[in-house]
Amino acid sequence: MSIQDEFSFINRIRPSTIHHQDTLVTGIGDDAAVYIPSPSQSQIICTDTLVEEIHFTNQTMSPYQIGYKALAVNISDVAAMGGTPLYYLVSIAIPSNWSEQELLEIYNGMSEIATTYRMDLIGGDTVSSKNSLMITVTVIGETEKGRQLLRSHAKAGDVVFVTGTIGDSSAGLELLLERGRNGGFNEEESYLIHRHQYPNPRIEVGRMLSKMERVSLNDISDGLASEANELAEASQVMITLEAELIPLSKELTNCQVEHAIDKALFGGEDFELIGTMSQADWEILQQNGQTTLSKIGTVSDGNPGVVLKQEGSLITLEKKGYNHFKK
Ligand code: ADP
Ligand code: MG
Repeated sequence: MSIQDEFSFINRIRPSTIHHQDTLVTGIGDDAAVYIPSPSQSQIICTDTLVEEIHFTNQTMSPYQIGYKALAVNISDVAAMGGTPLYYLVSIAIPSNWSEQELLEIYNGMSEIATTYRMDLIGGDTVSSKNSLMITVTVIGETEKGRQLLRSHAKAGDVVFVTGTIGDSSAGLELLLERGRNGGFNEEESYLIHRHQYPNPRIEVGRMLSKMERVSLNDISDGLASEANELAEASQVMITLEAELIPLSKELTNCQVEHAIDKALFGGEDFELIGTMSQADWEILQQNGQTTLSKIGTVSDGNPGVVLKQEGSLITLEKKGYNHFKK
């Protein structure tokens, strides 16, 4: 391992300021962390691993961005349950070509987004690795008992919605793979790249939705086709999406003139939310003037799966591709 001494490294990443969460009893420094869960809440826990050369390379992400994103993708899973994030743990496997400064940058990136959500780093593990850096982040969150937003909550008659715009991250990745993160990019391209490097988890929207009577929800890590299929399978319903309703940014449509919709359907890592709610609840939201959610389709009874309406034709959307109806 490149770092001189594991103990001094752990001391340097240990949060120096007073912790954000007052339910924390003991964080980094003992055999394990201890916190007192609030009796009115259910605990939410999730974990995700990023591996060098698989999920990022020196070409696509700086150490700071790797840290930011490794935590952001886990916060996004908490958002997709309707919860609030509280704590995180980090296990890192370090090859010898990474400097201590670069590792500290990873922690600085995590710390930026952790501060936004008032999360505390409460533990982890440090080991060496032969070739690739691997970083596993675990996030603990909470939501009011019984309020978790499951993929299985969709019912026939529901409206399907998404947050934000879809497909930007995958177009940003394509640009990074072409030119590298230090390449020259115009303003629109830079926007797409930023969407890839700094995903914005939708905690506030998830919290708002958790107050509603029945919402199904999933975060978009793998593209709309895949995530909509996950909702359809978990809820045993048919989902019909309308291509013209899928919100695309002008940056994406300008950059991917012909393939923008494919980026939304089959790209990934947008970390927006897709979900469903009753038509009645959707109308109430519209009357209240909401603008964060866009309707992209409807739910009906039928074989569990996803269908796309595009220019008058109906296409089955497999998790990873189109399957045109055979006549
Ligand atoms: P142990 O031998 O009990 O597992 P460690 O030396 O691995 O202890 O860890 C000491 C403390 O530092 C523990 O509180 C652990 O959670 C924390 N820690 C170790 N590595 C990391 C890391 N990479 N990031 C955050 N906390 C860490
Ligand atoms: Mg340990």
